[in-house]
Parts: sequence; structure tokens; C-alpha cells
Amino acid sequence: MVTGGARAVARCDMLGVSPYSDMEGGLYRAYLTPAYTAAQGRLAGWMEEAGMTVRRDAAANLIGRYEGTDATAPALLIGSHLDSVRDAGRYDGPLGIMLGVEAVAALHQADKHLPFPIEVIAFGDEEGSRFPAAMLTSRAVAGTLSPDALDLRDGDGVALKDAGVDISAYLSAVRAPGTTLAYLEAHIEQGPVLEAKGLAIGTVTGIAAQLRFQAVVTGQANHAGTTTMGLRRDAMTGAAEMMLAIERIARDDASDLVATVGRVDALPGAPNVIPGEVRFTIDVRSGNEDRRNRAAQAILVALEDIASTRHLSLSLQQIHDLPASPCNPALMDLMDAAIVDTGHSPFRLVSGAGHDAMVMAALCPTAMLFIRCKDGISHNPAEHVDPADVEIALQAMMGFIENLGETFVPA
Ligand SMILES: [Zn+2]
Repeated sequence: MVTGGARAVARCDMLGVSPYSDMEGGLYRAYLTPAYTAAQGRLAGWMEEAGMTVRRDAAANLIGRYEGTDATAPALLIGSHLDSVRDAGRYDGPLGIMLGVEAVAALHQADKHLPFPIEVIAFGDEEGSRFPAAMLTSRAVAGTLSPDALDLRDGDGVALKDAGVDISAYLSAVRAPGTTLAYLEAHIEQGPVLEAKGLAIGTVTGIAAQLRFQAVVTGQANHAGTTTMGLRRDAMTGAAEMMLAIERIARDDASDLVATVGRVDALPGAPNVIPGEVRFTIDVRSGNEDRRNRAAQAILVALEDIASTRHLSLSLQQIHDLPASPCNPALMDLMDAAIVDTGHSPFRLVSGAGHDAMVMAALCPTAMLFIRCKDGISHNPAEHVDPADVEIALQAMMGFIENLGETFVPA
């Protein structure tokens, strides 16, 4: 017999090809494209089979609802995103939706209803791979989207308002206060921690706080042949020393802290010219905001030091500051207990990547479950999960839902 976990994986695989992908020979499913609509159609069928009534909300999210014993009770939302990056893997996003469908299918099969309804939500835009805004649809649901944030155009110049949604009604996708009990999202880890620990699943403590800076190092552009080494003010070698300092500070912290220089531009960018200006980005993340801020401060001090020793000037501009989004402690305990009941060891880890759950935290308590993925690879066709791990995740989710049912106190 095929397990629910294996079926969830198989369904992600089915959605990995045409007509559910907009790209030949790979997966690319962006918000409101033909592939997106086709995938929603297929998913709606699976939701109905699992005993749900299906609707598309004003932000073009697909939502399946399975009634509880009390139709007026706030609903448990289980979801993730249906969209993908270009040349994506098949599980980042859809797997969390398919697991929600499988959890409801199992309840439906047993003719079991909980004290609260369950709604499985497939968010339309998380990756921001079409319009220049990420998590657009979960922000609409959580009520944190402003009307002017909808003035968007994709790479071909198509406006969001002409892409198949009624823009005047878009923000009505917001969930009314008191209608949502909690949000649960299962997702591939997109990192190597669970694999290194030999664990199939883990309870997520929250989404890391993120700081991003743009650094500009200015020296003196000059002739690469005639300027002797002692007389140079080389922005590139200065920037290189700064990057090593950033790496050292993050490593020495020996925690969940990570720091990355992901983009570098050197000007004027000629083989025979000493670079006069180098621009680079700095991304610093940790599950703990204080730790992140301390590290960012240490990085700034170190960079200024290097700049002054090398007679370079340095400007640092903060691009964004995303606060940590902790998962709900009581829900984490329910998840740990559910994992123990599957016969596995509970383990907690922070998410370095952003997820819809961080947006939904504005609306209701959130919980996340991570599933081991091969070599920690994601956003890549090589993305892989073991169906046996996904089945363990499904069992843990079922246990979590059951635990939530037992602790649920009707208003
Ligand atoms: Zn994702």
C-alpha cells in the first residue's frame, strides 16, 4: 500500500512537469501563469477527494476546508506555497500543501472530525519569482499588505491587475480576526542540519532575524602597471580582507549565526586598472536578534578598522532589517510530543530561510515542521526528499493535530 507520505511526494513529482510547469525540461511555476492555474486545478481535485470544499480567495490562493464538529470554531490552517523559483526542485512549497491534504484525507477516511475546521491553503506567491515582491499572497491573508504594494509589474511589463486577479478585491483575502486557530507549515529544511544529525524531521523554533547591508569601499583607481604596491589604495584587496573578517566573526560565534557576502561588483572592472571602488552585500542572520545585532556590530567595527588601516573609505547602508519570527512555544511542545509519539527523537532548529509562516505569525500562532532533504539542496532540480521521511512527517502532523484537538478550548 502506498503511504500518505509517498503519495504526497508522488503528487509533487506530478506537478513538476508540463502543464504544471511553465518551463521546458524543468520546473518553473510562477504566480498566475498557465502552469499555476493548471496546478491549482489538479490540487482542487485532490482536495475534494480528501473531503474538502474548495475555493479560490481574492488573492488567488487555493483553500480546501474540512469541517470540524463546530463549524463556527476558528480553523487550523495548514499550508505552504504552490509557486516556485526558476529551474526549481519539486518539493519546496508543494510538499507542505500535499501533507496538509494527506492529513485531512486520513481524517476523512476515518470519518473523524476535530473540534475545529481544518483549512489547507496553497499560497500563490512566496518566492517572488514573477512580480518583484515576495510572500504577496500570505501577506494578503495575514492583512499586512498595503494597497500601494499591489502596483507591480512582471519582467514582461504585465501589471498584477491585468494578470487574472481583481485588484480592487485583492485585500479582501484577509482572514477576519478570530477565525484562525493556528498556522502549521511543513517544509523541506533547505539546509544540511537534519541530515547531519541523522534525523528525518525537526521542530522549527522560528525564522531567523535578518540584516542586510550594502557596503561601498572606495580607494583610488590607478594604472595596474605603473603604481607600485606601497602606493596603492586598492579597494578590491581591502574588500577581500573585509570579507574574510566577516567570515571569521560568524565562524567564531559557533552558533546558528551566519554571515554571507553574496554579491560583489568591482569598478571600473578592467584587468589593467586597480579597482577604485568595490560594492558588496552583507547578509547576517540568527534565530536570536541580539546575537545577530552583536555580530553585525562586530562586523562594522572590523570593516572600519580595515578601511582605516588601508586608507580606504567605507560606507555602509542598511538595506533591510527583518525581525526574528519565533514559532509559538506551546505549539512547539505539541509538535515535539507528536514526534516522540512517532518513535523519533524530538529536535529543534531555526530556519535560516524565510517562509509564509513568518508572515502568518502576524495573524495567529504558528508552527513549522522541517523535513530532511538530500545534501541540504533546494532551489535546484536536484532537490530530493525520502518518501519514508515524509511519511514520518505526516504521522507527526497527525499527532500534532490530535494534540491540538485535545488541548483546544472552545471560545
Ligand atoms: Zn519554500
